[in-house]
Amino acid sequence: MQPALVLKSGREKSLVNRHPWLFSGAIEKQIGSPQPGDSVLIRSSAGEFLAWGAFSPVSKIIARIWSWEETAVIDAAFFKEKISQAVKLRQRLISPETTNAFRLVYAESDGLPGIIVDKYAEVLVVQLLSAGAERWKREIVNTLIDLTGIQEIYERSDVDVRRLEGLPESKGWLRTKASPEKVEIEENEIHYLVDFQNGQKTGFYLDQRKNRNILKEYSKDAHSLNCFCYTGGFTLKALQGGAAGMISIDSSREALAQAQLNLQKNGFSDEKVQWMEGDVFQELRKFRDRNENFDLIVLDPPKFAASISQVDKASRAYKDINLLAFKLLNPGGVLFTFSCSGGVSPDLFQKIVAGAAVDASAEVQIIQRLTQDVDHPVLLSFPESDYLKGLICIKRG
Ligand code: SAH
Repeated sequence: MQPALVLKSGREKSLVNRHPWLFSGAIEKQIGSPQPGDSVLIRSSAGEFLAWGAFSPVSKIIARIWSWEETAVIDAAFFKEKISQAVKLRQRLISPETTNAFRLVYAESDGLPGIIVDKYAEVLVVQLLSAGAERWKREIVNTLIDLTGIQEIYERSDVDVRRLEGLPESKGWLRTKASPEKVEIEENEIHYLVDFQNGQKTGFYLDQRKNRNILKEYSKDAHSLNCFCYTGGFTLKALQGGAAGMISIDSSREALAQAQLNLQKNGFSDEKVQWMEGDVFQELRKFRDRNENFDLIVLDPPKFAASISQVDKASRAYKDINLLAFKLLNPGGVLFTFSCSGGVSPDLFQKIVAGAAVDASAEVQIIQRLTQDVDHPVLLSFPESDYLKGLICIKRG
């Protein structure tokens, strides 16, 4: 008999609204003995079909939805169809002249919960974050090779959220011919060497591509500061746009070493950039104490709130760095400020930044609102996929 999960009465609402996560608290009973990752039928308490999901018994998210169609069959052909749709969408949205690196599959947003695939030129980096994704690993890899012709597939499932699914961390080649150590990508005429094996996330912050390009427009002759610079994405775009110079801070020595290599790779002069290994919270205070000012500042911190419970603490951290940034800006200066914490809504983020401006006695205008680039589409029924928000602010003179 087909394994199934039957919901408690009145608990079908989120599935009816096509939210792709089913929480264990909504389950009345389990039918059959599915193994982690197996496909299960999900039914309402009245016995109506709701969805097909991937079973994950140790997780609070007991199932992630593969399909809303009763006749669906979850097999290799299913993954081929879904991944093919994701690939076609990127072909429509991203011109090969712009970049050869983008997110090919964005999990729930592409109807493939737990499955992330990033393309870096001729290397695909796969992250499998759920029991269901893990169950179909072989089929996913075969499909990726079939659809893209790429032979280098590396796994970066070395992330702690796997523990919530009862899965160990996992990292290494899934398929390879040439086993490259790093891969060079080109994004809007800037070259980056991506350490997909050991870098953060899958090696590069693809979601900021569009925003990096916008920064270029604001950087002419600017004396600028890039906080949380990682491998120099915003720094190189500022130099491309003609910045006078850019002090760039990160706490990761490896990231800064990579950033310096990227600088050289693009032929920019060493003199224009000062890479600083340090803590942004402290370094901003030192600039303030020395009365050092800037025309352009970028704040692109890591996720300060990993969950809703951390939102208050995160809000204070965002306020702190934004307040300092407003103090350091010259009149007429521009701030690019971001939050990638899902729990911090665009509305809350704007309020935090507004509070920071008031406390810095700065009068500030928002010039533009920013979000993640098009290869990270937001699924309307899954607001969690809408995580990156940014504001371009001008400090009035
Ligand atoms: N803007 C970058 C991505 C930034 S990711 C890009 O476009 O590529 C966030 C970065 O913040 C990471 O590189 C991490 O090493 C760094 N970081 C985290 N906490 C920090 C801190 N307190 N001070 C300085 N850097 C920090």
